[in-house]
Amino acid sequence: MGSQIVIAIDGYSSCGKSTLAKALAKELNFIYVDSGAMYRAVALYFLRNQIDPNNHTQVISALNNIHLNFHSRDYESHITLNDEEVSAEIRLMPVSETVSAVAAIKEVRREMVKQQQRMGRSKNIVMDGRDIGTAVFPNAPIKIFMTADPKIRAERRLKELLPKNPEITLEEIFENLAHRDYQDTTRLESPLVRAQDAIILDNTDLTQQEQLLFALSIVEPYLKNK
Ligand code: C5P
Repeated sequence: MGSQIVIAIDGYSSCGKSTLAKALAKELNFIYVDSGAMYRAVALYFLRNQIDPNNHTQVISALNNIHLNFHSRDYESHITLNDEEVSAEIRLMPVSETVSAVAAIKEVRREMVKQQQRMGRSKNIVMDGRDIGTAVFPNAPIKIFMTADPKIRAERRLKELLPKNPEITLEEIFENLAHRDYQDTTRLESPLVRAQDAIILDNTDLTQQEQLLFALSIVEPYLKNK
């Protein structure tokens, strides 16, 4: 215990964090952990059970009733909420529209961070999110902070969501990303901010292969010297 390696990937919404994290995990044979999926699953539970984020008692009792688990298949992470597979449902608009408010709740963050830190104790992992390099694993040896042009991000997300939701528009996605970025960077509890020792990766003009090679150029020398 204690010698596991954590690669922390943070950044704005829809910057391709999960694409890079999955590719890196596959290349290095690490476990990929999508921390955003955890906040999304909590938000789904709040929606379904009409939990009021401002009601402390309701929030605490909801957290006691939420059990999350990851199952990794072919480097795609699947998440269950109380044993129900919710990986598809947490990507839909109702969750995207409420998740950042839920993720701003102190008690929610405390519980998720505890679970995330536990995962990093037992395995080599690549974890993506908003506070991984700052709050969850401040001592992670490799930290990457991702960014990209907001218009490009919305276009990429549109392509991904259209097959499941043909009604969705570019404007709707653009607004949602801007709103989430605003909420995530301005909240009181571990806001989205670049860790001082994180390397910036702007992938506006990069292909997926190019961004993977960039990340590997940081990770491989570290692993060789370990
Ligand atoms: O990564 P993804 O876009 O799926 O995350 C959904 C939301 O969960 C983010 O907009 C953010 O509000 C929250 N989140 C967070 N901290 C993390 C990961 C996600 O606050 N580590």
